[in-house]
Amino acid sequence: MTTRVLVGQFLLEANTFASGQTGLSDFEKTGLWIGKDLKRSKLPEEDELSAAWDFFETAEWEVVPSIRAWMGAGPPISETAFKTIVEEILDRIEESISCIFLSLHGASAAKNEYDPEGHLLKKVRQKLGSEKPIAVSLDCHAGITPLMINNADIITGYRTVPHIDLSRTGKQAAELLYQTMNKVIEPVMYASYKPMIGPAHRQDNNYEPFGSLMNMCEIAEKKENVLSAAFFPSHPWRDVPELSWSSVVVADKNINLAKKEAENITDCLWKSRKAFTEITDLEPMSETLAAALSAPLPAVIADAGDSPSGGSLGDSTELLRSALKCTNRHIWMTILDVEAAQTASDTKVNEEIKISLGTGEKNSFNEKTEIIAKVLSHPEGTLEYEASLAKGKRGHLGKCALLGIENLRIIVHDQPVMLIDAAPYKAAGLIPDDAEVIQAKSHTTFRSGFQKISKSFFVSNTPGPTPIDLTNLDYVNRPHPLHPFEIIND
Ligand SMILES: [Zn+2]
Repeated sequence: MTTRVLVGQFLLEANTFASGQTGLSDFEKTGLWIGKDLKRSKLPEEDELSAAWDFFETAEWEVVPSIRAWMGAGPPISETAFKTIVEEILDRIEESISCIFLSLHGASAAKNEYDPEGHLLKKVRQKLGSEKPIAVSLDCHAGITPLMINNADIITGYRTVPHIDLSRTGKQAAELLYQTMNKVIEPVMYASYKPMIGPAHRQDNNYEPFGSLMNMCEIAEKKENVLSAAFFPSHPWRDVPELSWSSVVVADKNINLAKKEAENITDCLWKSRKAFTEITDLEPMSETLAAALSAPLPAVIADAGDSPSGGSLGDSTELLRSALKCTNRHIWMTILDVEAAQTASDTKVNEEIKISLGTGEKNSFNEKTEIIAKVLSHPEGTLEYEASLAKGKRGHLGKCALLGIENLRIIVHDQPVMLIDAAPYKAAGLIPDDAEVIQAKSHTTFRSGFQKISKSFFVSNTPGPTPIDLTNLDYVNRPHPLHPFEIIND
């Protein structure tokens, strides 16, 4: 009898500090496919679901598609969108389904629901029954919860930041699912939690202690009967009751082994917790811009406080306000502003306009800023990301215009896009060689995204919904105590 594996993907890294919500129309922009409409050929090559799908087909399993809803990051998911995702998966869990593979992010949030992935898995388990296995691949920025652990058999996670092992993570979960179905292994899983979070800029395999912690997963997996080991430094801009960093180890039959290896990772993490939260070498935007302009050019400045790949909208005016003091320099940036994008779109090319960018109050990260600029072009707006995190995935600037103030270039747009590589600039017809300073909106991924273009990289300690300094955010629901907010002794 053919093994029938139900597959699905739901990826949204939710930022509860960002305004608005992520709806089905947002998922549509990056490819929302349901049932038979979800085909392997539509998926990018570097992707968890693609890799798992390929593995299952090679194993001559029948792949039953449910839904693919991929959004990278954004505000919490709307009630309707989450309900649709859950129902489209549940509706396809028929008696003939043998097992399930889901590619999830693990750190989404919905209105009135702090743990969407946990609740999704609980419902999937209820409908599938306890005998058939569920394998899940997660982003390492997932916020693991007991509900997720109790309702899945296998969990794997990325081992790289910037993320370059999406396919590896999906394939690992698929392989373990295959071995489980063939009774080669009996997976048991243990999660170890530590009451801490940390900013994203210290999460990079090239930095310590992050690199060593990720490496511990690989070392653990080499041990006999350890099937998978993952470290989950949950993304910090999510104000939820179960916020923590964790590790998850899957072992063959031996729960004590899983516990020992999982705790080994989090014990090392706990010892080095202060290294993740020390902010010593980062400057506000005006200082960062001055340093970038005197570095080998072109330089890239990451506006850390407004990172759409961390769920913010991309509407900060921090760089704009600093750059207006040196409009003779070739500085590029993007700003999401719905009203300004409309006005600029309605203005003829080469005409000058007086508009304001940003909607915030004075001294806020998106402080309303008046400019007089020339409309240089009306780009079509479609883009394809190049950075590993989203290679081959599509985005759209929406209604947009390229504005010029002397040598400054500003893409004003009305749909959120990630600024992890030069894709948005290329979509606006800009050639990266011409720039002196290029804005990125990211904490780590931009380094690989702009690697071929830039000679110098800077991270600016800017305010916004994705700041490096987490004490700037007003958490209400987070657990207590939690490092770095409270002092927790060993
Ligand atoms: Zn991530």
